[in-house]
Amino acid sequence: MAAQDRAHRRITGRLVIATHNPGKLAEMRDLLSLYGVQATSAGELGLPEPEETGTSFRANALIKAAAAAKATGQPAFADDSGLVVDALDGDPGIYSARWAGPEKDFRAAMNKIQSLLVERGAKTPEQRRGRFVSALCVAWPDGHVEEFEATVDGTIVWPPRGKLGFGYDPLFKPDGHDRTFGEMPSEEKHGLPPRARGLSHRARAFLALADACLTKSG
Ligand code: IMP
Repeated sequence: MAAQDRAHRRITGRLVIATHNPGKLAEMRDLLSLYGVQATSAGELGLPEPEETGTSFRANALIKAAAAAKATGQPAFADDSGLVVDALDGDPGIYSARWAGPEKDFRAAMNKIQSLLVERGAKTPEQRRGRFVSALCVAWPDGHVEEFEATVDGTIVWPPRGKLGFGYDPLFKPDGHDRTFGEMPSEEKHGLPPRARGLSHRARAFLALADACLTKSG
């Protein structure tokens, strides 16, 4: 075991999940329950949402986790994620949620990506490369933090395909697959063990976190 592996801090007992998004909360709760960790959410505790002023996924995850740890005196978990499109200089990136506006109109956000790709002449799959990124952070009240980041590379397809998943899923075809995330049931999109070794950005980052900080229960 490498020296840096031994330095990881284990998560035991309760954990605050710093999200006000019910979908993310349910997903994380399910994953954490496999490790005997009970999760309360920042939303349920009535904590305010801090402003995401960071310039990277990692920085924004840290802002959310550290604010919840400070407010509750308990270890807190947060994630930040988004879609990075190479031909758009990394956009929408950390602004992925904001591109859908207050109405959360992802159809409009996907149209915007396609229009910009057409404007830039990006037609072939090679010109339409992108990736989903997930940054996870666990922060303790004493200032200790654990950070994990993972990606899944793929192609931006047009038109969008599939009605499953959320956000930009129908636009994204992961490498090595013929279907978009919007066409994959959640078990396939995440590809968690024992079925696979992690496909989605979030599953891959979570598996890294689990390896370092969690103990399988049962
Ligand atoms: P966050 O809540 O600031 O992390 O915003 C993440 C945004 O990125 C979401 O609102 C989606 O637009 C997009 N996103 C992140 N992960 C996924 C995914 O797995 N599928 C589709 N869209 C995603």
